[in-house]
Amino acid sequence: MDRREFTTKSAFMGAGLAFSNFVDFARKKSVRNAGLSVSIPIPIQIVIDDVGWWSGKDGHDRQEPYRTGINRNHVPADYQAIVDLGKKLGVRPQAATILCEWDRENILRNVPTITWMREKWENSKWVGPWLDEAADIIRNNQNHYELTLHGVGHEYWEDENMTRAEWADSSGTMRPLDQVELHLDYYEELLNQNQLGSFPSSFVPTAFLHGFGLTGDHPISMAEVVKKRGIEYISTPFENMFNAEGAQFGLFGVDSGVITVDRGEDLLNWDAFSAKPEGVVIGTTCGLHWPNLLHADPNRNSEIVDAWVELLKPYNDKPETLLAKNSSSFRDQLVHHVCTKVQIHDNKFDIDFLETAKLNGQLCNTQLSVKIESERMLTFNSDDLKISNSETFHGKDTYVYTLVVDRINDIEKAVVKFEAL
Ligand SMILES: [Zn+2]
Repeated sequence: MDRREFTTKSAFMGAGLAFSNFVDFARKKSVRNAGLSVSIPIPIQIVIDDVGWWSGKDGHDRQEPYRTGINRNHVPADYQAIVDLGKKLGVRPQAATILCEWDRENILRNVPTITWMREKWENSKWVGPWLDEAADIIRNNQNHYELTLHGVGHEYWEDENMTRAEWADSSGTMRPLDQVELHLDYYEELLNQNQLGSFPSSFVPTAFLHGFGLTGDHPISMAEVVKKRGIEYISTPFENMFNAEGAQFGLFGVDSGVITVDRGEDLLNWDAFSAKPEGVVIGTTCGLHWPNLLHADPNRNSEIVDAWVELLKPYNDKPETLLAKNSSSFRDQLVHHVCTKVQIHDNKFDIDFLETAKLNGQLCNTQLSVKIESERMLTFNSDDLKISNSETFHGKDTYVYTLVVDRINDIEKAVVKFEAL
């Protein structure tokens, strides 16, 4: 798998367990009765890594970062590709962003560990009208573009040497706290320089090097450090996470109050470029790297974007999955998928929120989606819940209903009745 985001694939044996849990969790949530099944579908969030570079060059053999590894520079059209993907699918992809090449004032000279040039950082080459053009695309498409924290320079420079990675070392131990705080300060400075908005609420650790809970001698976890900046959601593959066994809910864990989600495995290699995607999304996250969405000729980016749309759209129609509209509805749906239980009796089904109630503090709002697959046309009603939206997809032999239900007053049990038309 080349360098991927991983360093040592076998370093964290405990994480293997988490993956098998994950498949179980993904499948167990559907209950079936003669001709009918009810499930709380698993939400899928799109996460795109390594957005933000202007140079595409993989520089790791000269003590520089890996970047995106493509043989052209990045252009504003590459940002538009993310927006177009979001618009066409009705979702808000996370763009996990690296900001060092957005430094208009060479402020990163002040932090030697943050770039390969250390005190001699010089970025004038990448200062030009493309910065404002890309920033405009990001600012004007907030419903279909989420700027996610990835890093400033992606790696960590000790003396002249590039080491992996910016936030944690190769065993997942957080970097010295004062350095982590400085890197976060400068991330915010670069957002401000370019008017890219307030500090993000989601985070993808670079090189997927991350520890769940405390690491090394640190009295504070990385999750708690970024929580103070406003991060509410960390996305990383548990296969590569230190202390993955500490994640309490299989598909996700709660670390200092921050939901940490198993990204699982990406469909494509990090450097697959100018190629249409193939494969099956298994878990919570459709993870990709920026080149995976782009064409060698940026004028043809839409060909690759459209291929992703074609691959991902059917996940909205399957009874066991849905594409999350944004990060907060993703988090809510994931908590319900794992914790909320359904049971069918005759002409009704029960929804049991008893386990979910333990995580009420993690929920952003009161809505969840429930899907019903049936051979017959049905109508639904409930005295306990508000059914605020209902979509129907007519498959080959069945109907798939998506009910968006509002759980009012944190109730612990609800009944939904259904009737054949
Ligand atoms: Zn990365």
